[in-house]
Amino acid sequence: MIDLHTHTTYSDGTDSPLALVKKAAASGITVLGVTDHDSTAGWAEASAAVHGDLKLALGAEVSCLTEDGISVHMLGLLFDGENKALQQLLSDSRDTRIPRMKKMIENLQAAGYEITLEDVEAATPPGATVGRPHLADALVAKKILANRDEAFSGLLNNESPFYVSHFAPTPEDAIKAIRAAGGVAVIAHPFASRRGQILNPDSFATLVDAGLNGIEVFHRDQSSEERDQLISIAESLNLAITGSSDYHGTGKMNQIAENTTSQAEWERLESMADLRRVVSR
Ligand code: AMP
Ligand code: FE
Ligand code: FE
Ligand code: ZN
Repeated sequence: MIDLHTHTTYSDGTDSPLALVKKAAASGITVLGVTDHDSTAGWAEASAAVHGDLKLALGAEVSCLTEDGISVHMLGLLFDGENKALQQLLSDSRDTRIPRMKKMIENLQAAGYEITLEDVEAATPPGATVGRPHLADALVAKKILANRDEAFSGLLNNESPFYVSHFAPTPEDAIKAIRAAGGVAVIAHPFASRRGQILNPDSFATLVDAGLNGIEVFHRDQSSEERDQLISIAESLNLAITGSSDYHGTGKMNQIAENTTSQAEWERLESMADLRRVVSR
């Protein structure tokens, strides 16, 4: 079983990299993607925990914004973690998430919600890329909301008046940076329409020109119609097709390996990286 998209406590997941790797091995996963939002901080701990038949495809899920302001997530896998330009891009994104969080908190305070930056800091694990899920956790701790899901369907939704975006590279720039660092780029859940505005199907050709390698088709946030549409796009543009859980521990309903990638598609993706960078024992 191959699951190429998961999160740890270095972003908005609730399992440490060690706990995630143990869980993946126990679940029979053979290749696990570790893809925290805008960060590679969990790589070392995950690598040290590798055992048995489990291999790691280390990566990151890069937050992007199109020129039209559409939020896109780009999975980078198997890139050189020491690549300076890519690490700069990731740290710029993490840096702008802090003033962005302050603005969202100010918006909530102005509407009478009693929430502070300290509350959000207390809900954010050390070293984690801060995001709306941590603000959601702080609102839950304050008994303002029941859980993360309620936050994302209301107060913290992309369409909510409290929502603030943050600096992010375009999907094309993220793809180029991932490829220049030797990795492969797979666009994550591109047609997840229930999250907000999605990409225009015509824009995939430009992503391919930038170096896109694959499309995450099998993901719980995409309906079977959306999956079918993506399969035809992937076939017409000769892109690899992946499926993944987007596991976040207890932070989301997603169960590890609930969607997977075939061995053939994985091998195809792996062959497009510049070096063999899979981590195994
Ligand atoms: P941000 O990057 O700070 O804008 O937060 C977006 C992140 O929130 C996404 O990458 C998801 O991991 C997470 N998210 C979205 N919807 C939900 C949900 N319903 N429950 C928990 N987490 C969610
Ligand atoms: Fe997330
Ligand atoms: Fe995502
Ligand atoms: Zn994700």
